[in-house]
This record gives sequence, C-alpha cells and structure tokens, in this order.
Amino acid sequence: LAAQLNGTKPTLNGHASESNESSSTSERLQVINDEKNFTTHLTAQIGRWGLRDAGFNYNIVAVFGSQSTGKSTLLNRLFGTTFDVMDETRRQQTTKGIWMCRGKDMGVMVMDVEGTDGRERGEDQDFERKSALFSLASSEVLLINLWEHQVGLYQGANMGLLKTVFEVNLGLFGKKAQDGSQGRTLLLFVIRDHIGVTPLENLQATLTADLKKIWDSLSKPQDLEDRQLSDYFDLAFTALPHKILATDKFEAEVQELRKRFVDKTRDDFVFKPAYHKRIPADGVAFYMENIWEQVQTNKDLDLPTQQELLAQFRCDEIASVALADFTVQSKSQRRPIEAGHVVEGLGDLMRNWRSHALSRYDRDASRYHQGVYQRKRADLLGVMDSTLSPLFLGQLKNMHKSCLSAFRKELLDGLRGDEYSFADVVGKARTKCETRFADGAKEVSLEDTDWTWQDEFESLREEIGNVADQCRKDETKKMVNLIERNFKKQISEPIDISLNKATPDMWDKVLSTFKETLEKAESTYLAKAKSFDCTDDENVTSLAALRKRAWLALRAKIDEQTADTAILGKLRTHFEERFRYDENAVPRVWRPDDDIDGAFKTAKEQTMDLIPRYAKITPVDPSLEFTLPSESSDPLNSTDEFDFPSTLVIFTETKSLDLTARFRKDADAYYVEAKRSTVSSIAQ
Ligand code: GDP
Ligand code: MG
Repeated sequence: LAAQLNGTKPTLNGHASESNESSSTSERLQVINDEKNFTTHLTAQIGRWGLRDAGFNYNIVAVFGSQSTGKSTLLNRLFGTTFDVMDETRRQQTTKGIWMCRGKDMGVMVMDVEGTDGRERGEDQDFERKSALFSLASSEVLLINLWEHQVGLYQGANMGLLKTVFEVNLGLFGKKAQDGSQGRTLLLFVIRDHIGVTPLENLQATLTADLKKIWDSLSKPQDLEDRQLSDYFDLAFTALPHKILATDKFEAEVQELRKRFVDKTRDDFVFKPAYHKRIPADGVAFYMENIWEQVQTNKDLDLPTQQELLAQFRCDEIASVALADFTVQSKSQRRPIEAGHVVEGLGDLMRNWRSHALSRYDRDASRYHQGVYQRKRADLLGVMDSTLSPLFLGQLKNMHKSCLSAFRKELLDGLRGDEYSFADVVGKARTKCETRFADGAKEVSLEDTDWTWQDEFESLREEIGNVADQCRKDETKKMVNLIERNFKKQISEPIDISLNKATPDMWDKVLSTFKETLEKAESTYLAKAKSFDCTDDENVTSLAALRKRAWLALRAKIDEQTADTAILGKLRTHFEERFRYDENAVPRVWRPDDDIDGAFKTAKEQTMDLIPRYAKITPVDPSLEFTLPSESSDPLNSTDEFDFPSTLVIFTETKSLDLTARFRKDADAYYVEAKRSTVSSIAQ
C-alpha cells in the first residue's frame, strides 16, 4: 500500500504539518480499506474539507469501472482531486477500497471505487456488490467508466457490473421509486479513448440497448415486475479522446465536462435535486459507516430505517450540543435563585436560552427524518423545561417573600403619623403587592409549559391577609391602650375629689364620672375602629376589654385613695374637722365646762360611719350601678379569675374592724390632747 501512495501528495497522515485551508481541502481519505474496514476519520475529514455545515448543499459522486481504465486519472482531471494513479512504468495492480476527496473549488465529495470488478481476475464479486450498494445509497451520480472498445460487449465485465448495480438498486430503492424521491440516480457513462469513427450517438444507442437487455433479464420481485429502468435511473453519455494520443483535446474536453458538475445554470448540470439522497452533510459520515456495517454483515439494507437511525443519532448529538450552552446559561442563575434573590428579567433570560438552543437544534436537526426530529425536539424541550422549572418555582417563592416584606413595609410606612385610614393603607399596599407579584409571575412564565403561578399567588394573598389582620390587631391594641391611658388621666382628678369628700352620694359621683368617661372612650374606639375594618366580633372583644380595663383602672384609683395611710388620713381629717373646728370652721379652744366628751363622741361616730361607706361601691341611685360579666379562670388561656362582685368590695369586714381600731387610737389621741389643753389652761 505504501508503495502506491504517491509521496508528494498530501495524505491523511500528512495533514498535520500543513494546516492552511487549501491543503486540508485537498486531503484524501481511504474510507474503506482493503480489509473492508470503515475509517474512523470521516467525520473529522468532512470537517476539514469545510463541508460539515453544508446541510444539503453538497454533492456526492462515485466512479465505477474495470481496473486500469483511467478512473482515477479522470477524477483527478475532472475534480482536481489527488487520487492515486497507476504508475505507467510498473503497471501495479491497485488494491480494493474506496477513497474519497473533496472536489477542488466545489462542494463535491468524490469517491474513487477501486477494484470494483474482480471477475476479470476471477475473484469473487463480493466487493463489487458491497461497493455498489454503498455508492448507490449515498451518491447522486455514478460515473461508469469504460473503453470505447468495451461498448457492445454485452457479455463483458462491465455488463456484469451494471447488472449488479441494477439488482442492488432494486433492493434499495425498489419500493420508493414511485414518488421519485431518494431513489433516482444518474448513470453518466464516460467512454474513454473515443477515436471518433463511431459517433457518440451510435455508442449511446448500443449501450442503451444493452442496458435494457440487462434490465429485462433481471429477476425482479413480483411487485416490481413492471418497473422500468427509467423509473430509477437517468442515463447520460459522454466520450473523451485518447489521453496520450490526443492529450490537448483530452484536457479540453475534460474541462468542458467539468462544467456540467459546476454550472448549475446549464441544462445538462448533473446534480439534479432529485438525485440527492438527502443526508445532511454533518450526518454523512455516520450514515455511510452504518450503511457499510449493514452491507458488511450482509443484513438487508433498509434505507428508511438507516435514515431513522441516522436521525436519532444526529438529533441526539445536535440536541446535546444545543443543551450544553443552555446548561451553562441556566446554571448561572441557579445560585442567585437559591440564595433567595428575585432575578430581574429571568423570564426573558430563560426565553432567550431556550429559543437559542431550539434554533440551534432546528437549524441542524430539521434536515433529518421529520418524525425523529420532532420527537427529539419535544424531548429537548422537556429537558430544558425541567431544568428551568426549579428556577421558575424559585423565582415565584422569592417574589412571594419579597412582595410580602414590601407589603409589610408599605403598611408600616402608611400607618406612621396619626391621620390615616387603616383600610385605605391596607388596600393600597395589597393592590401594589399583588400587582407586583402577578406582573413578575407573568414575566417568568414561559410559553408552551404547564407552569402555573396561581397557587403561589393564592398563598401570598392568604399571607397578606394574615399580615393585615395581625397588623390590625396590633393597631387596635395600640388604640385601646391609648384610650385607656386617656381614660385614666380623665378620671383621676374627679375621682380624687369625690373620694375625699365622702358625701353620702360619693359612689354616685364616682360612678357617673366613670360611666361618662367610659362612654366617651367607647365612642372614640368605635369611631376609629371603622377605619380598621374591624369585624363585629373584634369590636365586641375590644369593647369588653376596654370596659374591664377601665373598671380596673377605676379600682386602682380607688385602691390608691383607700390605702391604709390614705384612708386613715381621710378619716383623721374628717374627724378633726368636726372635733377641732366648730361649725364655722373656727378652731376650738376647749374650756373646762365645754362638753368635750359629747363633741368627741359625735365626731368619732360620724367619722366611723364613713368606714362602711368606703367599704363597698354602692351608689344611692341604683340606676348608676355598673356591672361587668365575671370570668371564671381559664387554665388554657391562663387568664385570672375575674369576679366582678368582689371588685365592688373595697374593705372586707376584718379590714373595716382593723381600720376602725386604728382610727380610734388616732381619735383617742386627739381627745387626750383636748383634755390636756383644758388642764393646762386651768393651771395657768
Ligand atoms: P484506474 O485503475 O481505473 O483508476 O486507472 P488509472 O487512472 O490508475 O490509470 C491506469 C492507467 O491508464 C495509467 O497508466 C494511466 O496513465 C492510463 N490512462 C489514464 N487515462 C487514460 C486514457 O484516457 N487513455 C489511456 N489509454 N490510458 C489512460
Ligand atoms: Mg484508480
């Protein structure tokens, strides 16, 4: 093999040192070697030829013919390729195999099929058959190369070769022929060493007649019995002068022939769309390798299946390339989302990643089997959507959180100061928050997904409700506290005065002050509660609390005024006013004949009468009576027992006795003092 490789031509092994475009486009590759193994380099080579992204915009041509009929020479002249040509001086036999080159300045892959006919050498026709299958499955044009003197030799080797081609073609495209797609191939006969004595038309007629004979002699499957050669093949004929005897003419006519492979505007342009086997350029390598494997293992070569397999393989590859970028892009936002951030414009980002990946996929994969392409597209979308879905859900969750805290802040800001309507503040904040969430959720919802944000929205609304409720309760509490404080301030002085005077209607005064003030407090509460949207239940509870607190405040005030020292002071003052001062509030100077005992007794008794008056809250006018519902202690709520009737009692019986005793002592001291003052005045 090494001897056959012309050392000056760039080979696959030689490309490394020459990396410029023109040298790599002239590289050749042995696609199938003489051991019938398929190369592992075809994908890479098609890339270096610059054809990988050509889509359908490339052509494949193969040459068939007997050994040493100048096939490689023709290809090199025609396409500017670098196939090996037999060395004239040594006449070495070429090996079997298929070589491939890219045509110079044209998007054509050229296959040089060597050793196609073994019958001249009595070899088995195995390779002939396999290479015919292989070439027909991929090529648009089959060059059939033959000497002029071989024409008309119906029994000759060429005819055996053509018979094989026809048979194989029937197997491959037999059933597909009717729609005209995929199955058509151009057979371009190149008659070499044409002397010119016999005109091309005559040679063409002879060949056509022979081809028909061969076609008719084929044993065809029953359902294809009526098929004509023309159902599958277009025939074209050309002749070339002797290369050595008429070199200039040969070269000129080859250049003329080349135009038919290059100039799309010509009527006889050979690469008609109908011949294209519709294998996207980036799938050619995989497709050919599979075809060869099927051929090699003598399996039935079912092209539709092959196309589907190819589509599956390539669509997967294309999808994973598209997915690689997408994965990097989507990963970039995973961290911020997981950290709880709301990513601005996440929906647009996701839409971009997704449509970018899809359009990449569509660009390359849409050329393949439509069913497979669509199915894999749906798979790709599914994978992408399930990658994006956590971002979507995360964004919703984060928006939920941020909207809720914005709502809280909005509430607090709105409730600053005194003049605000709670309902207005809540309503505005709620609308703002809900709109913000809904807008964001719509932005991040991708088209063609089953993603929904309604659940999250509902739960947000619920929490907004809870926050508003809690806030209202807090505000109500604050308001009640304020009212309570004002209440205490308002009752303080009138109660002091009433309790100091201890008139018989003392409690009437206390209670009417209490009731009036409480009434005012309640109406203050109700006025404010309106703007708080408080429920009736809440109002009932708040009012009850307010009443109880007012009552307890009153009680505290009374307790303060009836504490031991305070009450004893009051009693003493009362007693003094009656004992030490006369009716005109003039201080008494006791004389020996004054009725000190009588005055003392009266003053003492009058004062002692006050103790039961203070001891219990009892108005003279029963309409002034006040009452609160008692509450039994509730261990669950740890509320203390509240027994209203007992709060009416200021002094118990024992306490009253004790106070009486202590007051007596005070009074006695005054008595002794009074007595002493008369003694001392006598002594003077
Ligand atoms: P292949 O085996 O069919 O590829 O034939 P080659 O291209 O290797 O050529 C085989 C021999 O035929 C070489 O010695 C060529 O120089 C010679 N040859 C090539 N073209 C022609 C031609 O048009 N006429 C004649 N007579 N010989 C040719
Ligand atoms: Mg050759």
